[in-house]
Amino acid sequence: MTRNITCVTCPMGCGITVEINENGEVTSVSGNTCKRGETYAKNEVTNPQRSLATTVRVNDGVYNVVPCKSSAPLPKDKIFDCMKVINSIQAQAPVKLGDVLAENICSTGVNIVATNHCPAK
Ligand code: SF4
Repeated sequence: MTRNITCVTCPMGCGITVEINENGEVTSVSGNTCKRGETYAKNEVTNPQRSLATTVRVNDGVYNVVPCKSSAPLPKDKIFDCMKVINSIQAQAPVKLGDVLAENICSTGVNIVATNHCPAK
């Protein structure tokens, strides 16, 4: 099987072709301009991951929400479940940049951390 993907590791956006055998193993990678592209392509076809940036509701804060992100990329097939958890969180103000808003979300080993402050009212 052949997969054509676009590397999103840097703004060059190289088109990469990945050949996969019947066991799901990568047999060749072409079109990448550097080693990072090869690593990205292999991961994308065998274990796709995405970084997550969103917001969490805040109680008693000067803002209603605070921006947050995953501390590391999450498995792509767990993003939906992670968003359900994140949407259910109500952080209590004050929230400080770097506060962990959800620990080990969906048993991924990844935390959801605040990327800004939200002072209390
Ligand atoms: S293959 Fe290398 S140069 Fe091309 S987009 Fe990926 S990281 Fe950038």
